[in-house]
Amino acid sequence: MFGLIGHLTSLEHAQLVARDLGYPEYADQGLDFWCSAPPQIVDTIKVTSITGQQIEGRYVESCFLPEMLAARRIKAATRKIVNAMAHAQKHGVDITALGGFSSIIFENFNLNQIRRVRNVTLDFQRFTTGNTHTAYIICRQIEQASAQLGIDLAKATVAVCGATGDIGSAVCRWLNARTDTQDLLLVARNQERLTDLQGELGRGKILPLESALPLADIVVWVASMPKGVDIDPSTLKQPCLMIDGGYPKNLGSRFDAPGIHILNGGIVEHSLDIDWKIMSLVNMDVPARQLFACFAESMLLEFEKLYTNFSWGRNQITLEKMEQIGQASVKHGFRPLLT
Ligand code: NDP
Repeated sequence: MFGLIGHLTSLEHAQLVARDLGYPEYADQGLDFWCSAPPQIVDTIKVTSITGQQIEGRYVESCFLPEMLAARRIKAATRKIVNAMAHAQKHGVDITALGGFSSIIFENFNLNQIRRVRNVTLDFQRFTTGNTHTAYIICRQIEQASAQLGIDLAKATVAVCGATGDIGSAVCRWLNARTDTQDLLLVARNQERLTDLQGELGRGKILPLESALPLADIVVWVASMPKGVDIDPSTLKQPCLMIDGGYPKNLGSRFDAPGIHILNGGIVEHSLDIDWKIMSLVNMDVPARQLFACFAESMLLEFEKLYTNFSWGRNQITLEKMEQIGQASVKHGFRPLLT
């Protein structure tokens, strides 16, 4: 059985969907209440591969909210993640994806040092960040959507916002190996990590976001921002492809500007309907078929009976592993979202 550990994007979002999740008593509650709420299994899932194989899974709502980081409720945030992991393990889930901020919190706060949660000894082999599949899907989106828009990837300037992150660094490695991209622009805050990445790649210009955006034909957004940023579309090139893989989204507001094409990054579409309700609560356009690529990774590991932490740690995603999970993705009927 596979599992997905997820969270909602804001307190407002959580209050809105609490009733749909079957928890009306949560709907009027503030952050304090969510800080003390335990994890819950709120969905039972059945997925059929195009090979005909069927698997079953559980969605665990961790009750983590990004506001907990902004309000410095770090202890509550970290407790949410390890409690959700223990909950999944206790319910017999073999391989669980740590969606969105779950893996970011796990890494940033060294939660691998916490092995025991009440009577459960966490077995990290049963968890995956899902980031290898997410990076693979974003790279396919770069390749396919740029071709659709008539942007020649070989000559394009690509900015990666969140370049030093787990997903961002994998995308940079892929761009480095795959294309002659005219310029690779590396955006993040920590300068030391940026210089290390530049050294590893042997290329790339380190720029602040405001300087990188007007130069880019393609912008890949994979920064771990608890709240999206607003940008001025008039400063962007036309055409410009923006692939927003953040959860919550890195772009604070959706805008409609001529020549600017915004794509939901790291999202896959399955070839067959999935029996679940959870994706309608996170506003997917086609909730029966569209999902986060990290969630799809745990489904793929279950289909392939690969009960191992396929994506783990930080900045260790190799092109070979992206290719391996990519082959499983195609085999079982997932494809990158392109509209
Ligand atoms: P990491 O924590 O590994 O990396 C985050 C990156 O963002 C770092 O480079 C960090 O560098 C940078 N960053 C953070 N804040 C800012 C900022 N304000 N401005 C510029 N750069 C910033 O995260 P992941 O790679 O694991 O995840 C990245 C995003 O992808 C998250 O939003 C996550 O929720 C989402 N995600 C989506 C998935 C999907 O299936 N679609 C799956 C998994 C994750 P620095 O701190 O130095 O600025």
